[in-house]
Amino acid sequence: MRIVVKVGTSTLAHATGQLNIRRIERLCRVIADVKNSGVEVVMVSSGAIGMGVGKLSLSQRPSDVPGKQAASAVGQCELMYVYDKEFEQYHHVVAQMLLTSYEIENDDCRCNIENTLQRLMDYRVLPIVNENDTVATEELGIGENDTLSAIVATLAKADLLVILSDIDGLYDSDPHQNPQAKLIPLVREITPEIFALAGGAGSKLGTGGMETKLRAGLVANRAGIPMVIMNGRQPELLYDLMEGKPVGTRFEGRKDV
Ligand code: GLU
Repeated sequence: MRIVVKVGTSTLAHATGQLNIRRIERLCRVIADVKNSGVEVVMVSSGAIGMGVGKLSLSQRPSDVPGKQAASAVGQCELMYVYDKEFEQYHHVVAQMLLTSYEIENDDCRCNIENTLQRLMDYRVLPIVNENDTVATEELGIGENDTLSAIVATLAKADLLVILSDIDGLYDSDPHQNPQAKLIPLVREITPEIFALAGGAGSKLGTGGMETKLRAGLVANRAGIPMVIMNGRQPELLYDLMEGKPVGTRFEGRKDV
């Protein structure tokens, strides 16, 4: 079993933008344990720009491209430092992989990425992937890690893509507006009607929203990879997911769509 777990800034940071230490500790502990149980894990993690903003003591996220790129260059080190420190306690080795759409679209580069991922899996390493924001920011590249995580799932030939979000999954109406909104446990096909449920809003910190997650679902599902959107505030739910229990919203992978 090989899974790709996408972690967004809303899972890693408080609303203040500062690191959510308790959440990161819990998340890394669960992922380390899931790996110990024999599951191969690749993480796709955001947070570089956010951490850079914190480390540089900027009062807000820069709005210009060089500002975001500089913040991400600072923050990516910090991000990997935190992950390395967390996973080291459980004797897991992490690897950093920074990708851009340019390399993913280039056949030779894509082949190298796939080979590297495979070798890291053979070495039982935990690859942690992010977009290489110093050469590709929102304006220039893939721009958000939901899509990147679906691409990584296909490159890694994963069995499952798990997107950790700040809500439990996809609802039949907006749960922030409608207290009667019901979680949809299973989506067999991502149709325009499903997109209509997504609305536009995401959190203030992250780049994506439900819509980018559904687009990621299309990419993964087309490659035959199921996707699950679940709440990153409860990383322990990953255990339930690995035991086959229903968690969040599952989007079935169908090779023929
Ligand atoms: N690559 C960006 C970062 O690490 C995040 C993109 C996203 O939020 O999806 O800060």
